[in-house]
Amino acid sequence: MNSVAIIGAGPAGLQTAMRLKQEGFESIVLEEHERIGMPENCAGLISKNGIDDLKVDLQGCLQNKVRGARIFSPNGTELKITSKDTVAYVVDRKRFDLELMQKARNMNIHIATNTKLIDVRNQTLFVQAGGRGELKKAETVVGADGVNSTVRHLMGLKTNKDNFVHTIQAICTGEFDENYVQLHLGDFAKGFFAWVIPITDKKARIGLGNVLGENITQNYKEFLSKKFPGVRPYGASSSLIPYGLPLQNVQKNNMMLVGDAAFQTKATSGGGIVFGMKAGNVAAETIANTLKKNGKLSNYEKNLSGLHKELRIHWKIRKYVNSLSNEKIDSLFEKLKGKGIEEFLREEGNMDEPSKFIGKLAKKPSYWFMAKTLMGIARS
Ligand SMILES: Cc1cc2nc3c(=O)[nH]c(=O)nc-3n(C[C@H](O)[C@H](O)[C@H](O)COP(=O)(O)OP(=O)(O)OC[C@H]3O[C@@H](n4cnc5c(N)ncnc54)[C@H](O)[C@@H]3O)c2cc1C
Repeated sequence: MNSVAIIGAGPAGLQTAMRLKQEGFESIVLEEHERIGMPENCAGLISKNGIDDLKVDLQGCLQNKVRGARIFSPNGTELKITSKDTVAYVVDRKRFDLELMQKARNMNIHIATNTKLIDVRNQTLFVQAGGRGELKKAETVVGADGVNSTVRHLMGLKTNKDNFVHTIQAICTGEFDENYVQLHLGDFAKGFFAWVIPITDKKARIGLGNVLGENITQNYKEFLSKKFPGVRPYGASSSLIPYGLPLQNVQKNNMMLVGDAAFQTKATSGGGIVFGMKAGNVAAETIANTLKKNGKLSNYEKNLSGLHKELRIHWKIRKYVNSLSNEKIDSLFEKLKGKGIEEFLREEGNMDEPSKFIGKLAKKPSYWFMAKTLMGIARS
């Protein structure tokens, strides 16, 4: 009998296992793939604040440091948010996961690869290991099994196709400003945006997301030929991001969810590494308190409230932007630029925690023209 089985050796699952170990409790991590970090579907952008909070050493996977973002409206109006210091890191995502795995193994955490969870009945787990069926026992099961989570399905949580964004991304060679990420809004990325994450001045990850049902390959081709005619993409891959509201009821009986499985991604950007890992800490602390008999697993949802509040704000911002026509977005960009939004965000902006600046923005008289929207977003 293991006290805890964690399904999925991505950032959320590995962080849960490591935090539990720090609390003095053992777990086993089950990973369906033979190789950790594969298949790789990530732009690798992580906020500096998030990495500092989580105390992750990026030495083995750091590719670039960025100082800001250039955001383009559909007609090309640009908001440039700059900083003199690093605001985010670009990492090789496969290496990031491998480094976490190594750290976990150094802490004597057992990670069973090639082991896929099929079903859970109370404390019995049915897994497929190396093609053969096996039974495992665990008191608590943590579903850190990503966007298509089996544990979420077993918990009976329903999702809606509108809560997923379809993405495509490739490594591209060309000329890039390595100091800034770029975000592009337009019809080629309906419901989301296209991104350029520079790795060097000659190489970047370029991708886009759109609502399900669009011809994403065609949209990607159109975007590249319109905005980056000189670049050469290779190794394109496609995947889903769960960008709806963070799920409720993410704890049931002896099961709980973390990371993409629980929709703990930022709806503004699709980023889920920092929130997934922070939720992993919360899950581990909740389990540890339960095992120490001074807490209950059912406290998990309450313990997540700070993280989920930020995620709800991200979602409301996304919902607001998606409600605007291209023309409205263009004129909003013009107006915000004229009112000094770039300077405001340089001083106050925060990639992960919009609660830190939305309220302040709403109080500034120059932004009162959108006070109702801002107050609505802030009240999450
Ligand atoms: C194109 C794209 C770009 C992105 N860019 C960024 C970015 O720049 N920054 C950022 O922060 N986030 C980004 N994200 C989101 C980020 O990749 C996810 O939020 C993050 O990987 C979530 O971590 P996780 O541990 O919850 O899930 P995952 O990393 O998906 O890990 C889940 C693990 O569970 C395993 N698994 C699944 N089912 C089973 C099963 N039944 N049994 C055993 N194992 C199982 C999987 O093999 C996998 O290893 C991007 C996503 C996409 C698609």
